[in-house]
Amino acid sequence: MNIEPRAPTRKGPAGWFTGDVYIDAVLGRKGEPSRIACGWVHFTPGARTAWHAHAVGQTLLITEGIALVGTRDGRVIVARPGQVVYTPPGEEHWHGAAPDNFMAHVALYEGTADGDGATWLEHLTDEQYAAAVARGHRTE
Ligand code: MN
Repeated sequence: MNIEPRAPTRKGPAGWFTGDVYIDAVLGRKGEPSRIACGWVHFTPGARTAWHAHAVGQTLLITEGIALVGTRDGRVIVARPGQVVYTPPGEEHWHGAAPDNFMAHVALYEGTADGDGATWLEHLTDEQYAAAVARGHRTE
């Protein structure tokens, strides 16, 4: 066994996120038969992903702050540290911080034979985010 070398924190690409997001790789893909990968992602207040889907699903473990996770049908999950949010294969969704605090989650997902399995779509609009914040707070 060993302590894995720690890669530098990298800025989340603008094509994938709105606002400032920082990614620490926890586990890169080791190669077949393993396809699992894991990242620890920090979102500044109000930052969120674009709409996207994962070919083999995704599990998020919230580690800090309040997370919002939304789907195309308008549902918004509000999750706190220690809670786990699962997104099934192919479901279009976004995840991000509440407007007034940092949020961090560990993201676990499986790639496909030829990539990370993520399909990135359009950015969440400010209106969609504001509606999700309002909807999420109503379900508190
Ligand atoms: Mn996701």
